[in-house]
Amino acid sequence: MATWRNWAGSVVAHPNVVATPSSVEELQEIVASTAPGRRIRMAGSGHSFTPIAASNDVLLLPSDCGNGIGIDGVRRIARVPAGMVLHEVNQRLHAAGFALANMGDITAQTMAGSISTSTHGTGLAFTGLAGQVAGFGLVTADGGHLECSPGSNADVFELGRVGLGSLGILTYVDMHIVDAFRLRAVEEPRRLRDVLDGFDSIVEGNDHFEFYWVPHTKWALTKTNTRTQDHPRPRSAASKWWNKTFMENYAFGAVCATGRLIPALIPRLATALPSSGRQEFVEDSHAVFATRRLVKFHEMEYSIPRDRVVEALNRIVEMVERSGLRISFPVEVRVTGADDVPLSTSYGRESAYIAVHMYKGMAYEDYFRRVEEILLPMAGRPHWGKIHFQSASTLRAQYPRFDDFRTLRNRLDPEGRFLNEYVQRVLGL
Ligand SMILES: Cc1cc2nc3c(=O)[nH]c(=O)nc-3n(C[C@H](O)[C@H](O)[C@H](O)COP(=O)(O)OP(=O)(O)OC[C@H]3O[C@@H](n4cnc5c(N)ncnc54)[C@H](O)[C@@H]3O)c2cc1C
Repeated sequence: MATWRNWAGSVVAHPNVVATPSSVEELQEIVASTAPGRRIRMAGSGHSFTPIAASNDVLLLPSDCGNGIGIDGVRRIARVPAGMVLHEVNQRLHAAGFALANMGDITAQTMAGSISTSTHGTGLAFTGLAGQVAGFGLVTADGGHLECSPGSNADVFELGRVGLGSLGILTYVDMHIVDAFRLRAVEEPRRLRDVLDGFDSIVEGNDHFEFYWVPHTKWALTKTNTRTQDHPRPRSAASKWWNKTFMENYAFGAVCATGRLIPALIPRLATALPSSGRQEFVEDSHAVFATRRLVKFHEMEYSIPRDRVVEALNRIVEMVERSGLRISFPVEVRVTGADDVPLSTSYGRESAYIAVHMYKGMAYEDYFRRVEEILLPMAGRPHWGKIHFQSASTLRAQYPRFDDFRTLRNRLDPEGRFLNEYVQRVLGL
């Protein structure tokens, strides 16, 4: 029996059958020939913290089907194989003079995996990746292949851009793209109070802003990225290695490992993080958006309406201070604009995202539940791919089109071939 694990190592599955279909036809054949009553999931690169991709029956693994990206430069749309990882997507778009408009902070995910869980970055004038989708291909439970866009199978297009892998198997994703651009990045520690006091004007006045509050301190590590066509002013290889590889991974990993051994030291170790100093550079957008993550952790992230973020952060700070919890990982805060994707965590509202992390090997549940208690009542929507403790009974209230999604899902897949336990829990099936 095969074994499949997610990136964090927290989800382990033992599929009966594992296959890596290398063409749409092969995929259709596998789906059509799988006996009734059996379950099929397609995984991406396993970067979800929840068991959303897991299958103990038929598990399909991604391939890019040998196809490159098809770029329509006039319509500004790129056709991306569903299983292609974002790093590769970025490289190919860049070579042709284009880019994705916005993305999250790593590029190891597949195109299909990232839209399916509502993966996002930061920037009030931008949406997450699902909001940038112009169309997709879907192999359905009967082995058919649907082409979905606003003009064709529009209901499937509308609801299926964040589909939790439960509608069928995506074969390609058409993404809206923009001309290649650079980002002027400023990374610096600032006082948390100043960031919170000025939060609205900061996020309204900058293209992409995010910050990390360092628990047990009054500091935030901020990243402010401005879109520009200025000439590159890249970091030197040595400075990039020092800051991104050594400080953010090896040194930070050592701090976390020490904190895991002696939690009482965490507050003192935390005071070292804001001393990282200020950096400014201009590089291609994809090189700035994405960072390497070598330190393993568990994560929960909630989307809340943007105007609740200061109140939410203040309550989390107060809770951490009162609780006696020792937290070595910074709390990350981002924003995005509203989108029209029914199961997107930013559906219909400008959203702030608050993410909490715990170093791998340390107990996270108490901390995450306390944060969830604060964020859920603020119209909180958990990231579908990150740990949370909710099920359909609470999630339905946060998504006005929740039942439309369930109805479509049941129509496309009446026997439930594309379900797994996680999807059944969150959709109440
Ligand atoms: C280090 C790290 C950093 C992260 N940073 C961010 C971030 O900045 N922003 C953010 O929002 N999230 C972030 N995430 C979460 C991550 O983006 C999501 O969990 C994403 O879904 C992972 O993509 P994946 O390719 O690994 O898909 P998987 O986790 O393998 O699968 C996710 C879902 O996609 C479905 N799926 C995959 N391929 C197909 C297909 N072809 N057809 C149909 N369904 C499919 C799976 O069935 C599953 O439901 C991060 C995760 C990690 C580990």
